[in-house]
Amino acid sequence: MGKKPSVAIVGAGLAGLTCGTALKGLIEDIKIFEKNVIPGGRVGTFRAGDYEFNNGAQFFTVNNPLFWNIVSAWQTEGIVRPWDGWIVELQKGQVINSDMSTQRFVGVPRMQVIAEKLALNCDLVTSSNISELERQAGGGWRLFNERGDYQGAHDIVIIATAAHQVADLCRAISTISKPAENVDMTVCWTGMFAFEKTLNIPFDAAFVLDSPLSWISRYRFNGNDNEADCWVIQASPEWSQQYAASFRGRVMHALLDAFWEATDLGASQPVSASVHCWKHALPINPISEDSLFDEPEAIGACGDWCTAPRIEGAVLSGFSMADRVMKYVNKNYD
Ligand SMILES: Cc1cc2nc3c(=O)[nH]c(=O)nc-3n(C[C@H](O)[C@H](O)[C@H](O)COP(=O)(O)OP(=O)(O)OC[C@H]3O[C@@H](n4cnc5c(N)ncnc54)[C@H](O)[C@@H]3O)c2cc1C
Repeated sequence: MGKKPSVAIVGAGLAGLTCGTALKGLIEDIKIFEKNVIPGGRVGTFRAGDYEFNNGAQFFTVNNPLFWNIVSAWQTEGIVRPWDGWIVELQKGQVINSDMSTQRFVGVPRMQVIAEKLALNCDLVTSSNISELERQAGGGWRLFNERGDYQGAHDIVIIATAAHQVADLCRAISTISKPAENVDMTVCWTGMFAFEKTLNIPFDAAFVLDSPLSWISRYRFNGNDNEADCWVIQASPEWSQQYAASFRGRVMHALLDAFWEATDLGASQPVSASVHCWKHALPINPISEDSLFDEPEAIGACGDWCTAPRIEGAVLSGFSMADRVMKYVNKNYD
């Protein structure tokens, strides 16, 4: 073909950012389009006045050797560290198990830093919600955002969003849209509460059993010089599904009540209270293919819904996508 290809990546979560970073240096023209004002997707920070919280992923684990290498590099850069918090299992106010054997990592000072750091390597266009991909007669794709603004033409498009958004964007490409539309996602109501004084809770985080909640975690952040005790509370997938359409105020009170019951503490009034509903939190049935790529159409897709419902899954899927794009480029371009 004699020309260098250009690549557009839709979505600046960890899968898209990993793919973009891995292709950098090999492909000159890569743009990542993100609908939000900041990158990170489900690895997010929520700010409420003076307080901040990890409102999506709380920590990550490492199994795959390639991911170990990446995490070692992140550790060297100082953006992640092993989590030394005390994590327990909690049942009706009782600690029934203390899980100190699993090695967990957290972003420093917050989870979103991992995405922010990767984004520094990328040509990122934020606040651009890609709503249409138009195939060009001579090859390549024209991108448009939801306002109808033209976002350029690109030889290769990678969709690195949650599964339902992949299916919406490329309905006509059945090799990608069909597997994506079969993936179901959990719902997750998340509460973020700050209390003026430290609560009498000895552990840092807990998996909660027999409760509307599945996880509670104390969140420490640098700017917190007013002694507030900040907690992230995640409802179970079953409870979240049942209350998916409920009013925020109702959910907030229900989450707090469940928190007091789970910790066996007397209720106290938070100084800051917020809730967020992740309508597409975790893929229940990932497709078990690291990434998808339709060579004739020059379009691919990646994300945790391909591999496993966690940060490791998203990063490995992004890497697999980059590898497939490189092989395609080597075959089809000089
Ligand atoms: C509440 C919660 C708790 C979690 N806890 C953990 C945990 O403790 N440990 C762990 O390892 N994992 C956890 N996870 C899972 C982890 O966050 C995800 O697996 C991972 O972040 C997925 O990354 P991704 O890049 O595949 O997708 P996403 O992070 O969803 O990224 C997709 C990106 O695409 C953007 N986008 C979507 N559509 C468009 C469009 N049309 N145009 C432009 N941009 C678009 C989105 O805004 C988003 O930024 C949790 C997830 C949630 C929701």
